Amino acid sequence: MQFIETRGNDGVKPSKVNFSEAILSPSASFGGIYVPESLPTFDTEFLTSHLNAHYKDLALAVLQGFDIDIDESTLKEALSRYDAFDDPSNPVPLSKIEDDCFVSELYHGPTRAFKDMALQPFGYILSKEAQKRGENYLIMAATSGDTGPATLETFKNQPNIKVACLYPDGGTSDVQRLQMVTEEAENLKVIGVHGNFDDTQNTLKALLASDEFKEELAKRNIKLSAANSVNFGRIIFQTIYHIHSYLELVRAGEIKIGEKVYLVVPSGNFGNALGGYYAKEAGLPVEKILIASNVNNILTDWIEKGEYDLTTRELIKTESPAMDILKSSNIERVLFHKFGVERTKELMDDLNFKNRFTMTNEEREAIQADFSATYSTDNECEDVIANYAKKGYIMDPHTATCIKSYEQDTPKELKTIIYSTAEWTKFSPTVARALGQSEITTDTEAIEWIKNNTNVTSPKMIDELFSKKIKHTVVVEKEGIEEEMLKFL
Ligand SMILES: *Cc1c(COP(=O)(O)O)cnc(C)c1O
Repeated sequence: MQFIETRGNDGVKPSKVNFSEAILSPSASFGGIYVPESLPTFDTEFLTSHLNAHYKDLALAVLQGFDIDIDESTLKEALSRYDAFDDPSNPVPLSKIEDDCFVSELYHGPTRAFKDMALQPFGYILSKEAQKRGENYLIMAATSGDTGPATLETFKNQPNIKVACLYPDGGTSDVQRLQMVTEEAENLKVIGVHGNFDDTQNTLKALLASDEFKEELAKRNIKLSAANSVNFGRIIFQTIYHIHSYLELVRAGEIKIGEKVYLVVPSGNFGNALGGYYAKEAGLPVEKILIASNVNNILTDWIEKGEYDLTTRELIKTESPAMDILKSSNIERVLFHKFGVERTKELMDDLNFKNRFTMTNEEREAIQADFSATYSTDNECEDVIANYAKKGYIMDPHTATCIKSYEQDTPKELKTIIYSTAEWTKFSPTVARALGQSEITTDTEAIEWIKNNTNVTSPKMIDELFSKKIKHTVVVEKEGIEEEMLKFL
């Protein structure tokens, strides 16, 4: 299958590329991104024939449905990364929390957040493709928490790839910081930056735009790539678990194949939700995809009112930081799928130049045919965490944003699947506070208290983190980053 550009072609870049090119060089003409030329079919017949498939076999069938230019042995090797998840027989288990509501847990991988679902196999494939071409790539990431650890973990010791990861010093949780600074591999560099996440991200952008830096890379024969959430190599792996979760419900005897379900997705850059949308478009029986947000509720406005307006907004820091996002990159692919290339370019140009776009009423209704949206405040999330803890289920603050959608936006009597995107261990002080322990501030204390006072245990990789040796101690001012990078390269 070929991949085409969301904003049309500039006459310089190729107008169609293979999957391997789309993942190595993910930016398309006019600042656009790549989308599949068509979607495969994952209808009831597909579901029936994969009813008892292992996650890896289902994944292989989905990837082959997209007909990508990666050979089967490479795909199988990449998918074997799921063998290191908590339960190799099922990397994405489903828990029942209400008669008609189920949590699909996407956090059983090495860094305890859903980013592993895609980044784990993606990292293997990207490195393989780079080796095949005899090319060397630098992946640069600015992280506010979950992406950094997952990116480092997937690429560590992978040939032909180097990763530099910038994080705001003091701007992440203890667990997130330790997951980065204790990573030990020759090809990884982790740099703390004085400042907040915006400063870090802006520094990275400036560096990526600097001709001098590009020349230095060229001298060393290194190309730039990106593993961010618009890379289609991540999206493709994020369609699989929506199908898997549906089949889990069938296997549990909760639904019959063909019965529709609601999917609730805690959303930021909309990559997870987009995977669900592609699965629905390909034939998965989904009534609606419910988008859950925190008070940075720009997606709620987009879906409810048809407008996307950055001019009136400032980012608000919340207890679900992975969703503290205002420019949600993957909605562009929904616009493209629904309204085509010209309209997508128009809307995205409006967003870039005027910081806002407004859809027509018909367009808004077309979006609402597939999506609805709600947001929760931090206090509402803490109440949700406390309520479900009483019933014996501990969830993280991102997952907690889903409950309001489940309670308010499911008018039909259908089963609901909500996605849990992080383990409670990654946001333990918030969970402890929700459970009445507001004086606890550190991750170690919070994890101990929660283990001693609820029914959960913490995984080995979290317990070991606090005694691991720190390997990356560099913390610099913004101006010092380029020098550190060149030393590393
Ligand atoms: C990245 C992330 C999200 C947001 O996912 P998107 O695909 O960007 O919408 C939600 N929760 C957690 C814990 C995350 O790490």
